[in-house]
Amino acid sequence: MTGSSMRAALPKQAVSIFAPPHPSIDTAAGLAELTAMTSGTRPPAACLIGWPAAHSRSPLIHHYWLRTLGIEGGYVIEAVPPDEFQDFVFRLSLRGFVGANVTIPHKEQALALSKPDERARAVGAANTLWYQDGELCSTNTDVEGFINNLDACAPGWDKCEDALVLGAGGAARAVLFGLIERGVKRVHLANRTEARAGALADQFGASVLPVAWKALDELLPRAGLLVNTTSLGMHGQPALELDVGRLPSNAVVSDLVYVPLETPLLSAARERGLQTADGLGMLLHQAVRGFELWFGKRPQVTSELRAIVEADLNKV
Ligand code: NAP
Repeated sequence: MTGSSMRAALPKQAVSIFAPPHPSIDTAAGLAELTAMTSGTRPPAACLIGWPAAHSRSPLIHHYWLRTLGIEGGYVIEAVPPDEFQDFVFRLSLRGFVGANVTIPHKEQALALSKPDERARAVGAANTLWYQDGELCSTNTDVEGFINNLDACAPGWDKCEDALVLGAGGAARAVLFGLIERGVKRVHLANRTEARAGALADQFGASVLPVAWKALDELLPRAGLLVNTTSLGMHGQPALELDVGRLPSNAVVSDLVYVPLETPLLSAARERGLQTADGLGMLLHQAVRGFELWFGKRPQVTSELRAIVEADLNKV
């Protein structure tokens, strides 16, 4: 089944539930219209779909915004195994949801079952779903989470001509897309498995230059922005061995890892007086767009919200 025919297909059981004169539910628009008729008085709710339903900070973040903005709405975690994901997504609005966040292992399937925007397509994974004109749309909010966090923590970071990105997994794709979209001239990309960096460079075009891991030291003096997208530095993982003393004195250092909040890389960069952007900031900023799409108001990443999530992370 192709992506578009999968999108058009609706569950057979749903068709048998309703008889005319209800709107047709063999189209996404008909299904959305019908759902609107039956759920007009219900407050809007969104969910996080994952398997297993890991302990996530998303409910904490969205409940904070619902409360402080005075919006009546909900956000819950839904544990959905891979073989039930397609059915769950097709019935998302019938279940009373205006949209969803999607996490491991469903992000690629979410892309295939929805109408993705340019960001989701480039990253190859969708983490946010919402309805527009009855159609299930998707995006990848890690891109703006990363960029907006940099803008908030280190305004002017984009004056740099050379960025150095470490890692070539899912998070690296979002970072590369964001940096290219923002107009960074050269993005040097290093990964432990060098072939993966080469493959990403081929895909993202001429501004992404693969570089050998062992050549990192030579590149550091030119890097106006250093981004760690590997899991090095995370609790239980080895630290990232890198001499931040070789970076230019106006360099910005960003680490996507947020457990611990202050990774050895960020701590060394701060000690050297460099500007930094941490993984928790990115996590908070990436949640903004979903909330706006589902509940109609653009929320702010406040220091109070950050303190609430930090306290929760510190419980672990
Ligand atoms: P992923 O797809 O599994 O990629 C992991 C990357 O880390 C790969 O490039 C891998 O290199 C590299 N790596 C793993 N162990 C390594 C080691 N011992 N030495 C060198 N490189 C190593 O994971 P992901 O989804 O991209 O996530 C990466 C990190 O970003 C995670 O810590 C995640 O929590 C974080 N993240 C944070 C946010 C946020 O909002 N703050 C969002 C997304 C991700 P190989 O290719 O050689 O295996």
